[in-house]
Amino acid sequence: MGSMGYQPMPSPHNPPLTAIVIGAGLGGCAAAIALHHHGHKVLCVLDKVREFGRLGDSLGLGQNAFNLLEKWGCEVDEIKRIGNQAPNMTIRRWQDGKELAVQPLMDMAGYIGHRGDYHDVFLEWVRQRGIPIRMGSEVVQYEDRDPQPTITLKSGEQLSADIIVAVDGIKSLARPLVLGMRDDPVSSGYACFRAFFRPTPEQRADPRLNKYMREDCVNFWIGADMHMVQNTLRGGEEFNWILTHKDDGDVPESWFQPGDMEEVRRLTETLDPEIRGIVQQTESCLDWKICYRKPLPTWVSPNSHRIALLGDSCHAHLPTSAQGASQAVESAGCLAVCLDSINGPEEVRIATRAYEKLRFPRTRQSQTNGEDLRNRWHSALKGVDANREIDPEEVMIKNRWLYSFDAEEDARQRWKDVRRVVEEEFRAGKIEPLC
Ligand SMILES: Cc1cc2nc3c(=O)[nH]c(=O)nc-3n(C[C@H](O)[C@H](O)[C@H](O)COP(=O)(O)OP(=O)(O)OC[C@H]3O[C@@H](n4cnc5c(N)ncnc54)[C@H](O)[C@@H]3O)c2cc1C
Repeated sequence: MGSMGYQPMPSPHNPPLTAIVIGAGLGGCAAAIALHHHGHKVLCVLDKVREFGRLGDSLGLGQNAFNLLEKWGCEVDEIKRIGNQAPNMTIRRWQDGKELAVQPLMDMAGYIGHRGDYHDVFLEWVRQRGIPIRMGSEVVQYEDRDPQPTITLKSGEQLSADIIVAVDGIKSLARPLVLGMRDDPVSSGYACFRAFFRPTPEQRADPRLNKYMREDCVNFWIGADMHMVQNTLRGGEEFNWILTHKDDGDVPESWFQPGDMEEVRRLTETLDPEIRGIVQQTESCLDWKICYRKPLPTWVSPNSHRIALLGDSCHAHLPTSAQGASQAVESAGCLAVCLDSINGPEEVRIATRAYEKLRFPRTRQSQTNGEDLRNRWHSALKGVDANREIDPEEVMIKNRWLYSFDAEEDARQRWKDVRRVVEEEFRAGKIEPLC
């Protein structure tokens, strides 16, 4: 940690509020770090898997996340160093790679790196703070009780705290409890084939293939109803491509479903020859259905109001948003500030209800920003004469406005107003749905 001098803030409550975080993904780690920084006592972070592998492929973290992590005493240079170092990204025409727009990488994801590598750093930050991470601890039941909700692990062990933060991902078990109903995934109408590998020395040496393996770079090829994202990591030693295409098939939601390389070869027959070769030579890929959850009417449990969803469990993003992890970091900061601002443990329900009200509109904006980009990319060249010049504005990534936002400051500034609304809702006996 930039560690030596780092001190968390003193708790505004005596004794400090206690919290349990479910899920040790990037969102769960961020929640634990934020709560700890604000002086709340994180009893443990639980994850069902026994061990984390280097899972997933490229993921972006934006300046909005870095600013908060830095405030919480995290050495963000550790992340920046392992991220893609290209200064710019290029948006290209599907069939011939013609440059349509060039933008600084900071306009989108900030730093693109391997999810597993970033995750290792986040886990280390949690450990450095002395917060226990309990692996192989699957939560199988939530009891929405006051004054302390309880969770039951597969082993039968039960744990309670003043607040439970459920950061258990897109397939959240806590979410049906909060909603009081099942919410099945709905297809977004798109799927991704994605591959991440180390090109062989022969591939790197082949002049027809090596254009995008020489150094760190990020490129997007856009076409009708399809786009291909390519980036390298570690100076070109690792290679990642993600092909987003229309898909109305069934939706087995999985990060591990093998993809059909024959189908990839068919879809990329018309792709720019400068990138087609290496895509078509790829040995295997994953088939990742992009599933949506409709925006949720509530992120907080109905009875005690002490189980709060955070991250992908309540605001999953499309890949074109490049904000899934960053918005989870923002939500963590907002929740921690709301818990600071209440008068004691009996008011946790005010904090959680204020948190969802503060965060919902912002996460919707960030989600729809990604939808807008995908739609612009997939339609920009439809039926357009190959000789027509495309206005770069039409295809540019417009994420920069998201980065200057300080989720903690926003929560502090709006706290009094939102508290008043929440108190009024409790008095009236009706919490207004978020949507
Ligand atoms: C395997 C995997 C690969 C991914 N790959 C990419 C990628 O390549 N690019 C990208 O942009 N995003 C990827 N993501 C999504 C990205 O990590 C998230 O959008 C972002 O980090 C915010 O995630 P989160 O922490 O809310 O949820 P997640 O990252 O999904 O983490 C949820 C955690 O909760 C744990 N969990 C779930 N249920 C329980 C339970 N009942 N009890 C205890 N623990 C539980 C899971 O094991 C998991 O570790 C991936 C996610 C996963 C899980």
